[in-house]
Amino acid sequence: MADKPVSLCGTLTPEQLRILRERGTERPGSSDLNDEKRDGLYRCAGCGAPLFSSSAKYESGSGWPSFFDPHPGAVGTQTDQSHGMVRTEVHCASCQGHLGHVFPDGPEPTGLRYCMNGLVLDFHPGEKS
Ligand SMILES: [Zn+2]
Repeated sequence: MADKPVSLCGTLTPEQLRILRERGTERPGSSDLNDEKRDGLYRCAGCGAPLFSSSAKYESGSGWPSFFDPHPGAVGTQTDQSHGMVRTEVHCASCQGHLGHVFPDGPEPTGLRYCMNGLVLDFHPGEKS
């Protein structure tokens, strides 16, 4: 369930923890999920909360799995001024783990591009939200 207390320890890899806790970014093109076209549900690797449906995924060409619409209330955002840029950081609303960034250059109907680290998404083929 999305509202249980969450531990980020356990089965996560050091790279996953680096992204979730330290706002790390995986290498572009490194995620198997870039080519994932099946129907299913993308959950937070940190806590299991449902974040995105495959129906909201699209090919952005950025090298990271990209979505135009999260599940309602599934993610939170805040301004990120690191690396000399002003960006909007995206995190899991349930465990606060860092997921990626959102940019205003996505497709309709939202016009948003949720640029996610595939390592912190847990894809469940065939699962419906
Ligand atoms: Zn989470």
